Order: sequence, then C-alpha cells, then structure tokens
Amino acid sequence: MSNQKIEIILDAHQCQGYGMCLMSEDIFEIPQGSQVANLKMHFVDIDREDEVKELAGSCPAQAISFRILESA
Ligand code: SF4
Repeated sequence: MSNQKIEIILDAHQCQGYGMCLMSEDIFEIPQGSQVANLKMHFVDIDREDEVKELAGSCPAQAISFRILESA
C-alpha cells in the first residue's frame, strides 16, 4: 500500500512575515528577530491536506506551496 505525504514548500524570498501560516504552529514559526517564516517540518501526513491547502491559500504573499508525494 502506498503512503502519501505532503511536502510543504516555503519560498522565503516571497514571505512578507504576515504570520497567517502560524495558525499551524507545528509547521511554521517566525523566529524571534526574523521577518520571515521558517518551516519546522517539511513533510506532513496526507490527512492534513485540507489544512495545507488552506495555508497555501491564506498566505498573502503566496509564499506557501505544496506537493503530494508517494512514498512506499
Ligand atoms: S503567511 Fe506567508 S507571508 Fe505570512 S509569514 Fe507565513 S509564509 Fe510568510
């Protein structure tokens, strides 16, 4: 059975530090003193697809994208 994961992709050059993505605080952080978000994890389970879609859609700078990976 294949196992799907989502790879989260953050374009740190696009990020304007709006912080909407911090609603998923286990995935994103803005380190103290930083203006841009940082990924705390790069892969999440496929059952978080809706959440990831919402994250990507809610970033005002369109800095968040994702892709679905098949892993054996
Ligand atoms: S929502 Fe987008 S612009 Fe805002 S901190 Fe997160 S990645 Fe950066």
